[in-house]
Amino acid sequence: MNTKYIFVTGGVASSLGKGIIAASLAKLLQARGLRVTIQKFDPYINIDPGTLNPYEHGECYVTEDGAETDLDLGHYERFLGVHTSKANNVTTGKIYNTVITKEREGAYLGKTVQIVPHITDEIKRRMLLLGGTGEYDIIITEIGGTVGDMESQPFVEAVRQLQWELPEEDLMSIHLTLVPYLSAAGELKTKPTQHSVQMLQQSGVMPDVIVCRTEHPLSPEIRKKVAQFCNVKPGHVIESMDAWSIYQVPLNMHAEHLDELVVRHLDIENFNAPDLSGWEDFLERLRNPKHEVKIALVGKYVELQDAYKSISEAFLHAGAANLCKVKVVRVQSDYLDEGNVEEKIGGMDGILVAPGFGSRGLEGKVTAIRYAREHGIPFFGICLGMQMCVVEFARDVLGYKDAASTEVDPTSTHPVIDMMEDQKKTTVKGGTMRLGAYECELKPGTLAHSIYGKDIIAERHRHRYEFNGDYLEEFEKAGMVASGRNPQTGLVEIVELPSHPFFIGTQFHPEYKSTPEKPQPIFTAFIAAAMEYSGKRKTGARSVPR
Ligand code: GLN
Repeated sequence: MNTKYIFVTGGVASSLGKGIIAASLAKLLQARGLRVTIQKFDPYINIDPGTLNPYEHGECYVTEDGAETDLDLGHYERFLGVHTSKANNVTTGKIYNTVITKEREGAYLGKTVQIVPHITDEIKRRMLLLGGTGEYDIIITEIGGTVGDMESQPFVEAVRQLQWELPEEDLMSIHLTLVPYLSAAGELKTKPTQHSVQMLQQSGVMPDVIVCRTEHPLSPEIRKKVAQFCNVKPGHVIESMDAWSIYQVPLNMHAEHLDELVVRHLDIENFNAPDLSGWEDFLERLRNPKHEVKIALVGKYVELQDAYKSISEAFLHAGAANLCKVKVVRVQSDYLDEGNVEEKIGGMDGILVAPGFGSRGLEGKVTAIRYAREHGIPFFGICLGMQMCVVEFARDVLGYKDAASTEVDPTSTHPVIDMMEDQKKTTVKGGTMRLGAYECELKPGTLAHSIYGKDIIAERHRHRYEFNGDYLEEFEKAGMVASGRNPQTGLVEIVELPSHPFFIGTQFHPEYKSTPEKPQPIFTAFIAAAMEYSGKRKTGARSVPR
């Protein structure tokens, strides 16, 4: 079978959830036994989102091979349970960078370099790249942005060209739109969808399926109207109602026969019903929790839902694994200090201090960590959160009052967190951090070792600073243990406090690898510890560390 290509575009409004629809369809096709991957083409000019402030596009997701990508790749991995790579996220910046580099090399032999054909050729090359590996039956490509935007035009043009270059049965186009409900009229309105499809058709792309985001069910008349005005078969108008969880969407799409329709359209001989038993089991657990815990998520981007996306999702997975509803209380670290810490996080069953960069909100993080350490509240620090628990311990237990990370205080006399040696040589900001998966060796007898149940693990990284090894002996003598280290470089990847019921900090980002069907073990153990703490608190039996 030839590799099949499905393109997903969006119209009417942004934030309709193209990534979730693409991931849901991919999940269904994978559950039918097909080999599927998803890629995202983003119209912005940044080479990748690594240099973007999370307030711009939400979290920066990191792949196993160290690409800094759009957060939709996180959804793809969580739904499919397979790794994506550098090739799965392409931006306008990457396309132009390649074309301009080739032009400087003289590769265009004196020709005028233009959007069509040179930019569109490079877009098409990348759209087909993963298909060429022979590893996949189906490649789903999500085109970022909204149809009609100036920036996404070259991508839509590339899809138009591919419609004629590939065999008809190897390509399919899905358009996601919004069907708004006007409460004054008591009606669903299809006009925005008609206009959006007209715009797509003017660009020469004919959608084969229209997925309609809606708050109310689509009546047969509405479906018929959309089909008639938008030139698709009546059965190819799919209803996508708001769901109680994004993880419910694959089942909703299956109920709408989306997967069936796709295999038929692409001429794939596949009569399997999708096997979603593991997925349904997860949903069942998610829907029927027996316990509840409150976790403080302490960070500086808490106002934005998407800034800590993978962490929020990892909490859902770990909650379901423990049959526990995890109420995440977002705490702005900018406004956290000794005077209000009790009031803000005193009632929590667990405290997670988030990753981050720069000095804003840093002292609030240190305050939260001290509170968790002194009150025996389960604590989990990720990346900057881990670095700050090292700083807090140095200040309060080792007595180094000016201990700091050189990221914010280069003059500290106790730089317990310092820039990694090889980072000192880099001046360029984009893509130069320590990125992607590295091995970590766990010390037997530690909390980390008991959580993972093995000696060597691999987790993903995104940082420039590290635990300063010069201080390790002192820390260990005073009770903070380095329970995970890189086997090649000795870099400290995990610290913990054996005297505390549950206190762990990881230099890596375990949240990136958590999926519904394989929840991340530290998150699962953290929620279990929070449940235990909450139980003890109710009976007044909690233990406070020394
Ligand atoms: N700013 C810190 C560093 O660069 C932590 C990074 C992070 O939290 N991802 O090392």
